[in-house]
Amino acid sequence: MATKVPKKQNKQPGIEAEMDPRPEYIKPGYKAAGKLMGKVALITGGDSGIGRAVTIHYAREGADVGIVYLNEDVDALETLKEVERFGRKCLLIKGDVKKSSFCKKAVEKMFKEFGQLNILVNNAGMQIPEDEMEQISDKNMEETFRTNIFAYFYFADAALKHMQEGDTIINTTSVTAYRSSPHLIDYSSTKGAITSFTRSLATNLSKRKIRVNAVAPGPVWTPLIVSTFKKEDIEKFGTQTTMERAGQPSELGPAYVFLASDDASFITGQVLHVNGGEVVNG
Ligand code: NAD
Repeated sequence: MATKVPKKQNKQPGIEAEMDPRPEYIKPGYKAAGKLMGKVALITGGDSGIGRAVTIHYAREGADVGIVYLNEDVDALETLKEVERFGRKCLLIKGDVKKSSFCKKAVEKMFKEFGQLNILVNNAGMQIPEDEMEQISDKNMEETFRTNIFAYFYFADAALKHMQEGDTIINTTSVTAYRSSPHLIDYSSTKGAITSFTRSLATNLSKRKIRVNAVAPGPVWTPLIVSTFKKEDIEKFGTQTTMERAGQPSELGPAYVFLASDDASFITGQVLHVNGGEVVNG
């Protein structure tokens, strides 16, 4: 991962444009195969990190995209430029996913722009690490749950009004839901909820032939990390994995392509573990 000491940022969401070293969002040799040609995808948190990797992989596979982000215009514009460089459209939708009215409006904007919505990637997230349980404030806990899981409900609810047979929803959960995280008790609880949400929504939507799956990343080099962890934890970030390194967003994007494409036509209610080799159950 980092070849030099990485810079800490003091505000969440972090800014990818200010990261040093910069994350890799797509591998230079990535070979697209038109797997999402003619599709339209909405990716929350699509401006940076894992969401940016998903957005750019989807565009490379032929999809038009929309990205939701809180306020990081500089990252959103970079992502838009990269999508347009490959001849696809990218709608930027700025706002707060904690508000259900915003989530509804974001989906309606997508439908108005593109006339269809085939893929929803629920991915926006936040975390506030605390060393002890007693340090988690009610306010921070509520903000974490509103952002990380309530919003996934709001977007799924709004998107389903437009989704049809063959369409799909993908949620970003986390390895912390499976192996625990002593300093992210509230965050890892939201990720456990996302895994359960994925499973129950998948069985519910099976009759409509809409697939629902999730990806559980391990440690990945993104703005979330440099904007929330302590300097010493940033420096050793990812070294505890079997592969002894953090992943790059470019190593996550292809999993989201697989789950969104017809290659995954017999897969629903499942979680793909892209985590550097940590063996987890479920
Ligand atoms: P990131 O900082 O690049 O992405 C977080 C995104 O969430 C940003 O685009 C931000 O705009 C958006 N966001 C946060 N709060 C918002 C709000 N209130 N309204 C609208 N948008 C909001 O970091 P990332 O690591 O790519 O995170 C993406 C997802 O991956 C998150 O769900 C995170 O929990 C998950 N994840 C990350 C890691 C990791 O190691 N980086 C590991 C497991 C899971």
